[in-house]
Amino acid sequence: MFSNAKLMAALAEIPGLQEMLSDPFKMYIQGAQDLERAEKSGDEKALARLDFGVAAQCLRCSKHCEKALVCSGCKAVVYCSKKCHGEDWKAGPMPRAPAHKELCALNKEYMKRIPYFQAELKHFPWSRLETDGTCPHDLLKARFKVLGSGPKFGYWSVPGGRRPHDDSPTMIKVRKEGLPSNSTVGYVHGEVLLGSEWPLDVDAWKFKDTDLVPRLFFDEDYHPPTKPSPGQVKDWKSWYEWRGLDLASPAALLMDFPLSVYYLITSVLDLVDPSSSATDRQELTIHYLGAQVELNFLPLFSELALLLPNTDLTIIFFGKPVYALVNRARKEASAPLATQDTVWEYKAPKVSGGGSLKIRLHSESESWNRTTIITRSGPVKFPDALVGLNAGILTYPEWGDPVVMSAIFDIPFAITEYAEQSIDQLAKALPGMRLAASHEWRSAFEPGSEGMTSLLKERRHPVTVNPFHRPGQRALPVVRSPNLYNGFALAVTMGAEA
Ligand SMILES: [Zn+2]
Ligand SMILES: [Zn+2]
Repeated sequence: MFSNAKLMAALAEIPGLQEMLSDPFKMYIQGAQDLERAEKSGDEKALARLDFGVAAQCLRCSKHCEKALVCSGCKAVVYCSKKCHGEDWKAGPMPRAPAHKELCALNKEYMKRIPYFQAELKHFPWSRLETDGTCPHDLLKARFKVLGSGPKFGYWSVPGGRRPHDDSPTMIKVRKEGLPSNSTVGYVHGEVLLGSEWPLDVDAWKFKDTDLVPRLFFDEDYHPPTKPSPGQVKDWKSWYEWRGLDLASPAALLMDFPLSVYYLITSVLDLVDPSSSATDRQELTIHYLGAQVELNFLPLFSELALLLPNTDLTIIFFGKPVYALVNRARKEASAPLATQDTVWEYKAPKVSGGGSLKIRLHSESESWNRTTIITRSGPVKFPDALVGLNAGILTYPEWGDPVVMSAIFDIPFAITEYAEQSIDQLAKALPGMRLAASHEWRSAFEPGSEGMTSLLKERRHPVTVNPFHRPGQRALPVVRSPNLYNGFALAVTMGAEA
């Protein structure tokens, strides 16, 4: 470990960091302008010089690397020097962290997925792949003029700055050392819900060219997608095709959220009954845990109604920002959207299969916990599934109850994570988490009782690549192995299994 002063000195070296700390978007907006200028001039050399990769940082000492060295074995992690690589090879950076020699072979396996992820990214004419393998999402948004904070950025509104949820372990360490956050002052997740109505989807997407919008409302000029056959929409390409949307649309940079839910409840948890019909509809209630920026674009989850014929879906959103938003809204004199029982409702056209969606916000607690499904008067009706995107289960203690309760009551629960390594570690850690909980819950569930048996049951945790990951490697300074928003999926609890 290193001292605070040493760390601050290391940070001062990182190019662009100080600038980012004062205005989180400026650097990317400038970059987008530079790019546009170079493209217009047709100056190939100037274009080639523009690189929006990340300032590399040493995995071992966190120092900014003038020339990034990668481990020659796996090529997955960055070091500043042979010395740091050597030290890390022999012993982990912290007492219980594994040495790199124990991780190198596995990293090499993870790296084999790079060609797949890059090929997926290259489908899109707007994509960029920098020399360090990263994709500058913020720069891409700046090019479409949708990078910023607040309702004037519609569905795209983001807090700016380093988002704790997005940070690499290194950056989380930095944050704890007390660096100022440069989130946009006054930003609120879901600020639009403090108003009285959602803007029209075509407006909320904020594209100058409305052909880029995957619309939710249809007319003679813009036809609804036809009812999808099971398995028809299986990746980005097939989704764009089914939607009649040109790959020139950057919609995938936001639609990874709703489509990842689609992937979790269909492929991972297998909850959707393909035999449902107009007269025999399927009802599904999903608890969506850990919502943040999602609050800015709840209507986009309507995609699930288009994708799931004859299904009536209710999604209840949970999370600290949800709780804060609703409680703030309740104090307002007007009746903002956030205080309504259902904050968004959508019905897909008949030709698309007539699915429906209702969205509600959970405001009784800051996070999903045991009291969500067990009240003084006994258990309430369980949801059909829990989902969490980019969850960080091993990082945030709030996930303890969902992990344990879903096992006790066999509630299907699936999540996505950024990296295969973290999802593999999670799959390995889950049995231990349940075993530890069995001691805590001993007084409530006797040995041999249904709940305890269910908690201690051996469970499968299949790990898969999520085909609806956000295209492009995240801009991380210390790793080169695949690390993507909604990159990988895992079933925490498969539900009642044979
Ligand atoms: Zn180093
Ligand atoms: Zn290695």
